Amino acid sequence: MKKQLFLLLAMGLVFFASCGGQKSTQPQEGEFDYTVEQFADLEILRYQVKGFEDLSLQQKELVYYLSQAALEGRDILFDQNGKYNLRIRRMLEAVYTDYSGDRTDSNFVNMETYLKRVWFSNGIHHHYASDKFVPGFTEDFLRKALESIDASKLPLEEGQSLDDFCAEIFPVMFDPSVMPKRVNQAAGEDLILTSACNYYDGVTQKEAEDFYNSLKNPSDSCPVMFGMNSRLVKENGKLQEKVWKVGGLYSPAIERIVYWLEKAAGVAEDAHQKAVIEKLIQFYNDGDLKTFDDYCILWVKDLAPRVDFVNCFTESYGDPLGLKASWESIVNFKDLEATKRTETISANAQWFEDHSPVDPRFKKEEVRGVSAKVITAAILGGDLYPSTAIGINLPNSNWIRSHYGSKSVTIGNLTDAYNKAAHGNGFAEEFAYSNAEVALMDKYGDLTGDLHTDLHECLGHGSGKLLPGVDQDALRAYGSTIEEARADLFGLYYVADPKLVELGLVPDGEAYKAEYYSYMMNGLMTQLVRIEPGNTVEEAHMRNRQLIARWALENGKAENVVEMVKKDGKTYVRVNDYEKLRGLFGRLLAEIQRIKSEGDYAAAHDLVEKYAVQVDPALHQEVLERYKELHLAPYKGFVNPVYTLVKDGDGRITDVEVSYTEGYAEQMLRYSKDYSVLPNVNE
Ligand code: ZN
Repeated sequence: MKKQLFLLLAMGLVFFASCGGQKSTQPQEGEFDYTVEQFADLEILRYQVKGFEDLSLQQKELVYYLSQAALEGRDILFDQNGKYNLRIRRMLEAVYTDYSGDRTDSNFVNMETYLKRVWFSNGIHHHYASDKFVPGFTEDFLRKALESIDASKLPLEEGQSLDDFCAEIFPVMFDPSVMPKRVNQAAGEDLILTSACNYYDGVTQKEAEDFYNSLKNPSDSCPVMFGMNSRLVKENGKLQEKVWKVGGLYSPAIERIVYWLEKAAGVAEDAHQKAVIEKLIQFYNDGDLKTFDDYCILWVKDLAPRVDFVNCFTESYGDPLGLKASWESIVNFKDLEATKRTETISANAQWFEDHSPVDPRFKKEEVRGVSAKVITAAILGGDLYPSTAIGINLPNSNWIRSHYGSKSVTIGNLTDAYNKAAHGNGFAEEFAYSNAEVALMDKYGDLTGDLHTDLHECLGHGSGKLLPGVDQDALRAYGSTIEEARADLFGLYYVADPKLVELGLVPDGEAYKAEYYSYMMNGLMTQLVRIEPGNTVEEAHMRNRQLIARWALENGKAENVVEMVKKDGKTYVRVNDYEKLRGLFGRLLAEIQRIKSEGDYAAAHDLVEKYAVQVDPALHQEVLERYKELHLAPYKGFVNPVYTLVKDGDGRITDVEVSYTEGYAEQMLRYSKDYSVLPNVNE
C-alpha cells in the first residue's frame, strides 16, 4: 500500500505541498535547486539524497547495485500499462531526437509535451486519472515527421512498412474511442475489456474472475496472491497465465534485474539481508508465488541494515480486478535523525494516552506506539517514478501482515523536496491572512506538518478503545471520516503540548501555531481547490478536515477564536486565539472519541452532515479563481540523481558519487537507451 501525496495532505501534512509550481526566487549559489520544469498539469522536481556521503563504501555499493536493478524494470511497467506504450514511446523519442524540421512549430512543441507526459505516465494514459491523452498535434504532422527520419530508428516489426505501422498505432493515439481509459472502474461494464492495461488478453471479466476464483481454497489460511505476477491470456480457446519471470514474459528485463541483484547480494549488510535478496532472485527465476511469500516474510523481518529496498511486482491499483501487480522499485536508507523523532513519539505513547482530554472510560490501559521509520530515497523506479508515493506500507498480503507485521515508512527527503519547492510559490502569500501567518508557516510549517503526521499515524489511530460490545462497523458510512478526524484531532491537540518542547521535538511553544493556522486555512478554504465546481466534499480525509475546521469556527464564535474576514474583496481565515483553539480541538476530540467508543451512529451522522459535506458555492468559486491565477501544477514527480562508480587504477571501486544535474528529458532518453531491453511487442 502506498500513501500518495494527496493522502498525506489529507492527514494534515503541509497543505501547500499539493500546490508547488512556479518559483518566484532563484536558489542561491550552493543552495539545492528542487525545481526542474513544468508542463501540462505536471511539475518535475528533484530530491536530495542527504547523508549518502556518510554511508560506508559497502553501503554505497549496495545502493548503487540496487539502483541499477531499480531502473531495469522501467519497460516492464510501460508494457503493463498498455501493449502499444513501448512502441509509441520509442517512435516519439526517435522523432524528438532526429527530427530536422522546425522545432518551434506548434505541432512539434505539442508533440514534445505529449512525449513528456508519456514518460511521466509510463504510457499514453494519465497517471492519476487514467484517461488517454489528447495529442495536440496532427496525424499528418506525425506521419511526415516519421517519413523524414531514418526508418531503422523506428520501432517497426520485422517486414513492417511505415504505412502498416501508422495504421496500427495511430488509432491508439488519435482515436478517442480506442483504449480511452487505462483502468475502467465503471460498474456494469466489462472492466477488463474496457480497460487498456495489458494484464489480460482476449479474456472477459467473467472468465478472469472464474479462473481466479477456481484457484482459491477457502480453507487455506495462508493463501498466495493469485495472479499477481502474470498476464492472463486465452490461447486456442484455453485460459493460461504468462508468468513474468526469467524464461517467461519480460525475461530480458528481469534477467538484467537479477544480474544487479546478484551484485547487490555480494555487498549485503548482513547475512539476513543477503538471504532476502537471494530469495527475491529465486522468485524472479521460478515465478512461484509461494517463493514470493517466503521473500516477503524475510523482507519484513529485515530491520537491522541501514539500506533497504522494494523491487518487484507490488501494487495492484492498475488492474481493474486488483490482482495484477505493477512493477516498482525504491532504494533507500534509514534517516537516523528523523527516525529518532518517530521513536521518541512511540516511546511516550502511554503518556500521551493518559493525558488526552478523553473520558477515561474510552482510554487504552496499555497502548503501544507503532514504530515507523523515516527513510531517504536514493532512487525511484517503475511505478514509483517519476510520480511517487511519500509513504509506503508493505507487504500487501493480509495473512503475512497479521502474522509478521509490515514495514511502514515515510520518505523524508521527498516530503522535504515538496515542501521546499512549495516555499515561495505564492500559495501561502495568496491565501494566508497576513505576512505574519506566512512567516509563521515558513519558519515552522515543515516541521509541525511532519510532526502532526507522526502523531496522527504513530499514536492517533492506535489510541482509545471501543466499549465492550460495540460493533467496530457501527458508524457505517461515517466510520472513516470519524476515524480520520479522531487521529487528526489527537495530533492537533498534542502538537501544541509543552511535552513536545520538553521532548525536544519542537524548538518552542510557538511552533504549533503554524500547523493550527495551515490546518484551519486548509479545512475552511484551500482544500476546495481539489473539488470541481458544484460538487460536495466526498473523500473521507477531506471531510474530516472540513468537519474539524468548521466545527471549531462555529463553536469558537462566541469568543471569536477563529473568524473568516474579508480584505480587498478576498476571504481569509484569521485565528485570534490559538490557545482557545487548542481547547476546542480537545473538546471535539473528546466528543469524537465518545462517538467512536459508544458507536453512536446518530451523532456521527449529525456531525458529518452538518460540518463536513456541504460547500459554500461563492467561497468555492473564489478559491478556485485565486488558485488558477497562481498557475500551479496539481501533480508532481521527480527526476532521479545519477550515481557513478569511482575506481582506482586497478579497477577497484573506491567510492560512489551522486550528482543532481541531469534534466528531465535527458534522464528519460538515457533510461530509454541504457535500460531498455524489452522487444517492442511482448507476447
Ligand atoms: Zn489516518
